[in-house]
Amino acid sequence: MAKIIFVAGGVMSGIGKGVAVSSIGRILKSKGFAVTAIKIDPYINVDAGTMNPIEHGEVFVTDDGIECDQDVGNYERFLDENIYTENYITTGRVYQTVINKERNLEYEGRCVEVVPDIPNEVISRIKNAAKKAKADFVLVEIGGTVGEYQNILFLEAARMLKIAHPKDVLFILVSYLPVPKLIGEMKTKPTQYAVRTLNASGIQPDMILARSTVPIDEPRKRKISVFCNVAKEDIISAPDIESIYEVPINFEKENLGNRILKRLNLRPKKSNLKEWKKFLNNVKNPKGVIKIGISGKYFETGNFTLMDSYISVIEAIKHACYFFKYKSEIHWLSAEKYDPEKLKNGNREAVINLRKDLKGLNGIIVPGGFGKRGVEGKIKTIEYCRKNKIPYFGLCLGMQMAVIEFARNVCKIKDAVSGEFNKNAKNPVIDVMEEQKELLKNKKYGATMRLGAYNCLVKKGTVSYKAYKKIGKKSKDSLIISERHRHRYELNNKYRALLEKKGLVMAGINPEKDLVEIIELKNHPFFVATQFHPEFKSRPIKPHPLFREFIRSILRTKNQRNK
Ligand code: GLN
Repeated sequence: MAKIIFVAGGVMSGIGKGVAVSSIGRILKSKGFAVTAIKIDPYINVDAGTMNPIEHGEVFVTDDGIECDQDVGNYERFLDENIYTENYITTGRVYQTVINKERNLEYEGRCVEVVPDIPNEVISRIKNAAKKAKADFVLVEIGGTVGEYQNILFLEAARMLKIAHPKDVLFILVSYLPVPKLIGEMKTKPTQYAVRTLNASGIQPDMILARSTVPIDEPRKRKISVFCNVAKEDIISAPDIESIYEVPINFEKENLGNRILKRLNLRPKKSNLKEWKKFLNNVKNPKGVIKIGISGKYFETGNFTLMDSYISVIEAIKHACYFFKYKSEIHWLSAEKYDPEKLKNGNREAVINLRKDLKGLNGIIVPGGFGKRGVEGKIKTIEYCRKNKIPYFGLCLGMQMAVIEFARNVCKIKDAVSGEFNKNAKNPVIDVMEEQKELLKNKKYGATMRLGAYNCLVKKGTVSYKAYKKIGKKSKDSLIISERHRHRYELNNKYRALLEKKGLVMAGINPEKDLVEIIELKNHPFFVATQFHPEFKSRPIKPHPLFREFIRSILRTKNQRNK
């Protein structure tokens, strides 16, 4: 049986449990084990696809097309492994299965109960995921914090699994230790309470990861050890650090990997984090800064800027910059500021704002998005990038807006728009796919978009071809690549010939449905936009080829300007 490590959070959420799980995974993988990770989200939603990104953060998409929590993105990035549907568990998914099974008489007429049938379903999912991944280790992250009503049945599953397999199950608590300014001392009491709460669920943590602003010191380790019943060596320091990619190295300084092996009665093994350390060396010693503007709308909440909605985009930018030994700096461009309709002086004011805000930025990205709000400002931003030769990279909605901009301003179809924003549009250059129309009519919104991995043929002679050359499979004049999708609308093929005639390069086509996947412009330092989401496949050590070329083009223009 695979070893199963449950990781739960204490005191408060948002303290980097996902990164902790991913880092533990990386360490175990570096010791030669096959590792996979599972995310448990205790909400009723069947998946994250229908959730508001401001509330929930980015919706991550896997190859097999599940719309899941952003932590799954971290697992993929740190483990450099694909994660599949079995590895994403929500309360909604579990209940849906149990109820369906009951309806199909699979419980053979007996009374189906919350306990043990719900935890048993959770356990069976964990075992399935382990089997599918042929894993030696399965890391299971339980969302929320201990003591919440919502995740109690998942803790129950962990408890039940531990009695059934005492030697194969380990429990780690990631807890927060505040250092209140006025007191000036790290406080352990909230962690003590969290452990007590966990004990009330019948679980004794084997290890505690001590998250805090600073490293935990010896006296406090001793205190937690005595009060929480955990060996001092199993209390691992986890202070705030500049880059999340440092976490595995920091954990290894505390010997976390071998402590886990010891607790599971396995012999210690050397970690091989050479490649990771090399990558980290680039992270920590940048030659300069690259400034990228992201034009989005899912980042403003009250007085705070929430970057969670675009986490994969931000990480993909970072990976590509690190590849060239540069650091990235993200600038948030609030699209509404460039919408002529919303400004007193219309177009003139939009251009003045753009000139001011884009000054000093090296490249612009318009990422994915839904709904009408902000789109006109994005279209204006893209026009500005096209005309002023500013490197532009469009992701999904960012491609659709680039097509609209080109149709309006180059092909002179003044009322070109997306069917998403105007159902009765005369010129929907972006339009909904036929099969999607039925779904929308019947309010079938959940998990019904064009989701997950689809093939794309990348045409020879394009910027994209050059980018994908090393990883694409050659086929006649094209490369076959595969990328992940999450959208309902497409470039409308009725306009394709005209767009092409006017100079829009259709650099990538989906062969099965003849859909445009990549567009490019010639005579521009970099103007590439994709219908898919390349950001989901970027990994720290393997930056995504299109992000890499985007950054390369920026460095090229930067150098030219400096000459
Ligand atoms: N709203 C657009 C669509 O559904 C784009 C989606 C996206 O950017 N992920 O096609």
